[in-house]
Amino acid sequence: MDNKDLVQKAVEHFRDYPQPCCLCGITGSFVGIFIPDNPQKYGAPENKTRFFVYSLCDNCERLKDKATLVENKFLSNLHSLS
Ligand SMILES: [Zn+2]
Repeated sequence: MDNKDLVQKAVEHFRDYPQPCCLCGITGSFVGIFIPDNPQKYGAPENKTRFFVYSLCDNCERLKDKATLVENKFLSNLHSLS
């Protein structure tokens, strides 16, 4: 299974089982995929890619800087894990 299949599967899972909005926590209605330019920054091993699938609610989906907010969210989650 290559990355494209994995992304597809993850997106389908999020569509079938709506997840909380990754920014505010209420039930999300949009599915987004974030594929970092620099996956190592997000904890991926050398030469590996990493992707994140996330949910957004109606309100957060409308935020102009949602991409940055989501990115920062993933970064801070990673940092709180390590
Ligand atoms: Zn939200």
